[in-house]
Amino acid sequence: MKTNTKKVHIKTYGCQMNVYDSTRMVDVLAPIGYEEIDNVADADLVILNTCHIREKAAEKIYSELGRIRREQTARASSARPLYIAVGGCVAQAEGEEIFRRAPYVDIVMGSHAYHELPQLLKAVENKQRHNIALDFPEVQKFDLLPKSTSTQGSSAFVAVQEGCDKFCTFCVVPYTRGAEYSRPAADIMREVRDLVENKGAIELTLVGQNVNAYHGNDESGNPISLAQLITSLAEINDLQAIRYITSHPRDMQDDLIQAHGDIPKLMPYLHLPIQAGSDAILKAMNRGHKASDYLEIIDKLRKIRPDIAFSSDFIIGFPGETEEDFQATLALSESVGYSSAYCFKYSPRPGTPAAEREDQVPEDVKEDRLKRMQIALNRQRDDFNQLCLGKEMDIILDRKGKRTNQLIGRSPYMQAVHVDNSTDLFGKKVRVRISEVHPMSLKGEVI
Ligand code: SF4
Repeated sequence: MKTNTKKVHIKTYGCQMNVYDSTRMVDVLAPIGYEEIDNVADADLVILNTCHIREKAAEKIYSELGRIRREQTARASSARPLYIAVGGCVAQAEGEEIFRRAPYVDIVMGSHAYHELPQLLKAVENKQRHNIALDFPEVQKFDLLPKSTSTQGSSAFVAVQEGCDKFCTFCVVPYTRGAEYSRPAADIMREVRDLVENKGAIELTLVGQNVNAYHGNDESGNPISLAQLITSLAEINDLQAIRYITSHPRDMQDDLIQAHGDIPKLMPYLHLPIQAGSDAILKAMNRGHKASDYLEIIDKLRKIRPDIAFSSDFIIGFPGETEEDFQATLALSESVGYSSAYCFKYSPRPGTPAAEREDQVPEDVKEDRLKRMQIALNRQRDDFNQLCLGKEMDIILDRKGKRTNQLIGRSPYMQAVHVDNSTDLFGKKVRVRISEVHPMSLKGEVI
């Protein structure tokens, strides 16, 4: 057996797809002797797995690279060099520009090139600096990655779908992640069985940029939907909770809605971004649906699973947004009543159609609307949290808390639940009664 002699530190930004990709990078590097650590100082290789969604994402990555550069310089004359790699959506979008602005970076790799890490590293070790891998290969990356060996603990993530063909006018994902692709169902079943039967996973989150667009094939080559996949996964005995993220309203088919009523293991929570509540803005965003279509989905889900909680993303101040459009977004949020939601000021992403528009909303107007939106969403969240007080729920305790002897898990509705005096319950599903509610978390007592 090969001993691990080298250390890799991976800093992951952004979505759950990146979190999953980072675990797969660890799998790719393990056969060439790398093990993962949580700091730069002891690392031989640092990978920044980046996200392009937030404002000034690229600038933040360059600042972080500057900090890592200091460690790299300090080791310049030592026998243990520090290699630096940048992966993910910023790498895909910036490409060669990264080497121009940060010439000390050794590897730039797009989101489909992680399987090439061993070869890219080898080239760097042989003093071929500045290696880049940004192509979208003909063969899907899932087929090129080795079988997963990493343990994710009691809560595991599995990517089922990647990429997007929807081309919302503000978004870089179709350019950085490529066309939509769904993994074959048999591969997913195998990976999940292994996580549950051999690696202790009891909670599973299926991830994809457009996860509910999933349309993989079964072993006979027949297409199956996300609802059918979840139905099969729910039959795995020791798997106790299933979630999926991120969904698009256009792909919220009736069988998936029905699954929320039929499959107790499917958690009563759905992150369903709408981005804006005005039909004019939804059209300008190329979202492909109206506000009323979205509200109809919410209604159907509530009829089938009355306690279901919703979250969303909102973009405030999209080009051309009037006060009336914004009021429609506020009103929509009030009529749904979100348990949590993320709202961001619109910021142009180079290369996207919305970035070219001349009717950009002034910064101070965006700022003011964002504040009003946040107040409304915070109130909705607090109202939802309040409803949880005194309720009993099952929590899988999968993280350590800040306080001694405290563990944290997620409620069925995705709130963080803190449980004191619980260290011996790590990785277990426990029944708790909610005894305190706070804006960002709940407190539970084991019953
Ligand atoms: S659906 Fe729109 S926002 Fe979501 S990944 Fe695709 S293009 Fe981006």
